[in-house]
Amino acid sequence: KSFEELNLQPEILKGIVGMGFRKPSKVQERSLPLLIKNPPENLIGQSQSGTGKTAAFVLNILARIDLSTPEMQKTPQALVLAPSRELARQIAGVVRLMGHYMEGLQVEVAVPVEAAQRGRKVEASVAVGTPGTVMDLIRRRTMDARQIKILVLDEADNMLDQQGLGDQCTRVKLMLPKQIQVVLFSATFPDNVVKYAHTFAPNANQMTL
Ligand code: AMP
Repeated sequence: KSFEELNLQPEILKGIVGMGFRKPSKVQERSLPLLIKNPPENLIGQSQSGTGKTAAFVLNILARIDLSTPEMQKTPQALVLAPSRELARQIAGVVRLMGHYMEGLQVEVAVPVEAAQRGRKVEASVAVGTPGTVMDLIRRRTMDARQIKILVLDEADNMLDQQGLGDQCTRVKLMLPKQIQVVLFSATFPDNVVKYAHTFAPNANQMTL
């Protein structure tokens, strides 16, 4: 299969070419049709790093967000949670690269309220951050969560098996609209994480990729 056959918009295909990708990795080829279809499905994907999982969830985000008005461009529609700020930065970098040709796309890494300019709101179409910081930003209305329609947890095993991070992820999810797409990627799925993952992403397709 080619990227063209995955029904991605021309600007996204340009971004992919710009990154030097020739064809979808197995993870991308198997997950994207489910993620992008209408209505979109939830996914619990088990895949090691190095398999192209980041691009898989980023392409889904780019394919599904609405950048048609300046208002939507600066309202978070997709939220990616990651266990560390460093990983959040890397993910944001991939969104920017793949979305390079998408007009109006704004990507922001969530930083703690104290570190941000006073009164400054998160004005991005895609927000990436650690669960604790994002939870705090939504609580303080520094981030508007009302238009979020995709929630991604990267390295879900590392977050859901730690009491603190797992709780924060749950709290964030409770502050989002009810009908959203939930995508979890994880290298491993120990029993306790699988159970948690399925309550987190109801009716998800579980795939080993
Ligand atoms: P990840 O699994 O997200 O850690 O990605 C591993 C590496 O594979 C990254 O350096 C990506 O840039 C690269 N990559 C992802 N998808 C593709 C693809 N379809 N073709 C070539 N390289 C890719």
